[in-house]
Amino acid sequence: MRDEKCIFCKIANGEIPSNTIFEDEEFRAILDLAPATKGHALILPKNHFENLFELPEEIAAKAMVLAKRLACEMKDRLDCDGFNIMQNNGEIAGQTVFHFHMHLIPRYKDDGQTIEWDKREAGPEELESVRKQITGC
Ligand code: 5GP
Ligand code: ZN
Repeated sequence: MRDEKCIFCKIANGEIPSNTIFEDEEFRAILDLAPATKGHALILPKNHFENLFELPEEIAAKAMVLAKRLACEMKDRLDCDGFNIMQNNGEIAGQTVFHFHMHLIPRYKDDGQTIEWDKREAGPEELESVRKQITGC
């Protein structure tokens, strides 16, 4: 399950060289070309899934286990002070490469990065209405 036009398919399957930090039958983890911080890495499934919505649950579960494992190793080896795991789906959400991937971003005191959003007010009625919309009951 590859997309011939997808750069992450080529990287994940070794057709384009990358700074690989982990590889098994189903995944490759690489250093991001434009790192937010030292050690910023990406977990790529070797098969092509455009985003989280297309990702089979089994691969999603394995990706999360791998993210935890790599985050623990990177925390020890890079001596970072914190860690963000990010995953963007859709252009509006910041996705620029349409092959599912997880960002592993080690955080350091004074690294100068911010991963934030504007916090808006929502009253109890709005929250209840959204809860109903999501759950259907
Ligand atoms: P997105 O914005 O889709 O969540 O993340 C895409 C990420 O892929 C970006 O952080 C970008 O720097 C990284 N990236 C894009 N093209 C390449 C590439 O060819 N090699 C590597 N290693 N990273 C890439
Ligand atoms: Zn792909």
